[in-house]
Amino acid sequence: MAGHKTHSAAGVAIAAVLANTTLVGSVPPAQQPLLLACGMAAGLAPDLDSDTSRPLMILKTAIGVAVAGTVLADSLGQGLPKPDVVARTGLALGLVTLLFVVFTRLTVHRGIMHSIPFVCLWALLTMQATHTFGGSLSLAAGLAALLAGLGHLVLDELWSIELKGGLVPRLKPTFGTAFKFWSGSLLATVLCYAGLAGMLWVSFSRP
Ligand SMILES: [Zn+2]
Repeated sequence: MAGHKTHSAAGVAIAAVLANTTLVGSVPPAQQPLLLACGMAAGLAPDLDSDTSRPLMILKTAIGVAVAGTVLADSLGQGLPKPDVVARTGLALGLVTLLFVVFTRLTVHRGIMHSIPFVCLWALLTMQATHTFGGSLSLAAGLAALLAGLGHLVLDELWSIELKGGLVPRLKPTFGTAFKFWSGSLLATVLCYAGLAGMLWVSFSRP
């Protein structure tokens, strides 16, 4: 598969191109870093299903630090005794760890997260997450996420073709496991399409 550096660079490049087109309206310069971040996140998102991927490790660390930091600050703000502060922070960290253990057990590499419906779902979630920043950014971020996600799947497929002797193309066993409409798990596929239908309804029924 293509490395995370390739995927994040492709995601950022797609968002940068979109930021400079009139297709999505003019995104204010102050919001463009957020647009690039959305492109990068979408370019990396499918690999969150790989238990050893760097994007998953970064996400785990970021959420762990954010949750533990918030609980610690809240406990100190309430003036709780030291043992309680330690216990609450430890419990929060334990819950985050447990959440990721469950997540890695449930997800399979090159499963449903490497699929076209998942990329569409991520794009709609990105649109919703950036909705408060205005229509131009929200639309641009959704489009950037869609194109960056599809770009990830295409890159993974291209990396599944090797040239035997530098000339004859040969397909690796991973070919066809990224750019697809469903996974081997019926439950995961149904859940993904249900989430997509729900997000389509939420996104486009809003006045
Ligand atoms: Zn991938």
